[in-house]
Amino acid sequence: MHHCPSCSSQSLKDVLWGTTALKQCLNCSLFFLRDMPHYDDTIDYYASSYVLQNNITTTNYHYERRRIARLPEQIFLLSKLISLLPPRVAMIDIGCDRGFFLDEARRFGYKVLGIEPSISAREACNTIGIPVLPSLDEVKGQFDCVVMWHSLEHFPEPAKTIRQINGLISKGGILAVRVPDFGSFWSRLLRHRWKWFQPHQHYVHYNVASLEYLLKHHGYEIISLKSRRANTLTTMRSQSAANRLFAKNLGIKASLFDYASQWYHYIASIELFCIAKKI
Ligand SMILES: [Zn+2]
Repeated sequence: MHHCPSCSSQSLKDVLWGTTALKQCLNCSLFFLRDMPHYDDTIDYYASSYVLQNNITTTNYHYERRRIARLPEQIFLLSKLISLLPPRVAMIDIGCDRGFFLDEARRFGYKVLGIEPSISAREACNTIGIPVLPSLDEVKGQFDCVVMWHSLEHFPEPAKTIRQINGLISKGGILAVRVPDFGSFWSRLLRHRWKWFQPHQHYVHYNVASLEYLLKHHGYEIISLKSRRANTLTTMRSQSAANRLFAKNLGIKASLFDYASQWYHYIASIELFCIAKKI
C-alpha cells in the first residue's frame, strides 16, 4: 500500500515490528500492515475462520462463563453512553460477537442491531433473539448510536469504513470506539509479542493521535478519548466468581493457563476508548 488508508498521505515510513512489515504514516501517526489483505478476502476469513470452537456444550459453557466475567464491563460502557443517549434510541454494534453488549443494552431499553461476519457468533445471537446482519453493506436506516468494540482495527480501509458509517448515523449521533492502544506502554515494551498485536486479523494499529485524526477528519467532535485498562479489578472479581460458579455447579474448571491468561489480560490489555459525536 502506497498511501495511508486513513488520511491518504504518501508520506510513509517502513517499520519492522518483529517479523511483520508495517508502514507508519508520518502525517496522522497511523500504523498499518505493509501488505494489506484485500477487503473481499477479509470477509471470507471472518465468515469461516473466525470461529473459536465447535463443540456446542463446551463452547456454550465457555462463552457463558465469559459473558458473566464481562458483565461489569458492559455496565461500565452503558453508563458512559446513557448520559448522552436516552434508552429506546436505535443502537448498532459493529462486530457484536455473540451479542454480550447488545444483550445488556436491550435490557437498558435500547433498540439493538448487531453486525457480525462470523457465522457461529451470528447463530449465538439468533439463539437469544438479537437481530444481526453479516455485513455493514446490508444495513438500512439511520441509527442514533454506533459502537465498535475492538472491531475498527479489523477493517483494512478505515477512512472508507467511517464514511460508510457516516451514512448510517444520524446528525448529533454517537460513535463509540474501543481499539487496542498501539501506543501504550505494554505495546511498546512487548512489541510483536504484545497480546493484541495480531497482524493476521488486526490490519491497522491506532494510537491516540491517529484515532483522533480519523474521527475528526470525518466529521466527529471528540467527547472523550482515553487510554485505559480493558479489564478492571471489578472484571477480575467477576471472572473469579464465574470460574468458581462453573467449577462448583457444572464441573467446568478453569485451567492454570486460563488463570495465567486472565492475569496477563488484566495487566497488559490497554485500549483506547473514544466517544465521539457526529456534527
Ligand atoms: Zn495517515
